[in-house]
Amino acid sequence: MQRDSTSPDVSLTQDESFVATSHRGLTYPFGERVPGAGEALAVAPGVRWIRLPVPGALDHINCWLLDDGAVTTVVDTGLNVDAAVAAWRALLTAPPLAERPVGRVICTHFHPDHAGLAGWLARKFQVRLWMTRGEWLTLRVLTSDARDEVPEEQVAFWRAAGWDAAQIAAASAGGFGRMRRMVAPLPLSYRRIVDGETIAIGDAAWQVVTASGHCPEHGCLLNARDGVLIAGDQVLPRISSNVSLGLTEPEGDPLGEWLASIAKLMGLPGDLLVLPAHGEPFTGLHARLAALRDEHLKRLDILHAHLTEPRRAVDCFGRMFRRRIEGDMLGLATGETLAHLRRLEVEGRAVREVRDGVWWYRAA
Ligand SMILES: [Zn+2]
Repeated sequence: MQRDSTSPDVSLTQDESFVATSHRGLTYPFGERVPGAGEALAVAPGVRWIRLPVPGALDHINCWLLDDGAVTTVVDTGLNVDAAVAAWRALLTAPPLAERPVGRVICTHFHPDHAGLAGWLARKFQVRLWMTRGEWLTLRVLTSDARDEVPEEQVAFWRAAGWDAAQIAAASAGGFGRMRRMVAPLPLSYRRIVDGETIAIGDAAWQVVTASGHCPEHGCLLNARDGVLIAGDQVLPRISSNVSLGLTEPEGDPLGEWLASIAKLMGLPGDLLVLPAHGEPFTGLHARLAALRDEHLKRLDILHAHLTEPRRAVDCFGRMFRRRIEGDMLGLATGETLAHLRRLEVEGRAVREVRDGVWWYRAA
């Protein structure tokens, strides 16, 4: 995250930011081809691409089936909604899963479109769920805390960002901790994966590459032999991942972590086939990372120029986003704007003053 997924205003199915970015320099080896319902499309040696439905603007999530000897390793699982369960039921009765059942579940990160059916699959096949510790613990915490009444701390956070009473009332109507509805019950044990670890899957070696900013400890998987990167939400081709400051770590610096992660991933080979969780497989990793980085740097400059007088997060939406911010967008927009304002503060380019609980930022 640090998008606060406990916040009931956030559309949990729309995981990614609406900040459109360039995808110049990218090629899509499979063109318009995408796997249909129940289809597992081979994209690399021992790697198959499946697509599960996600309601709302996100539309779908890509998950990956890895040949693993007599079984299949699944990477990411879809939301716990009927349409995704139905899609799995079709996949489980067709090759390869009909002959080589699920033998292990790996989740790149805790977001419900990725981990929503992890518990369902793990229980159904009596197999272990593999995740980084940061993602596992966040998933467990956020699915364990649901309340009818929105806590005072959450209301104070919204007020700090400049929300008015009507916006707070609307966001409060859904209660607190609604992420649990999108995630099937989880096992109590998991298998931790760590940065740099190599996992043997079938005859391939997949190295765990962690990153953060979108979530605490996102696990990408790199197969250097075949030049394949399972990128999760860390590198998406057509949309930019949500990077938000949230209630859990109000003094965090998710955008700083995101930019550091981009620098880290720039160290990977530039010719990898990137398998993203949303959109189509592509090559052009370095071009895409550079575009994502430059977009954030540009927004930081635009925001900085806007802070000639004190502004709240809500006063910055016009500079951050091309669309009018309303309804469910408000939570996402607030988190992303705060992440940028916080980054300016950490860089010493802005200062924050708290007046009556409201955060006002001005250029330093
Ligand atoms: Zn995500």
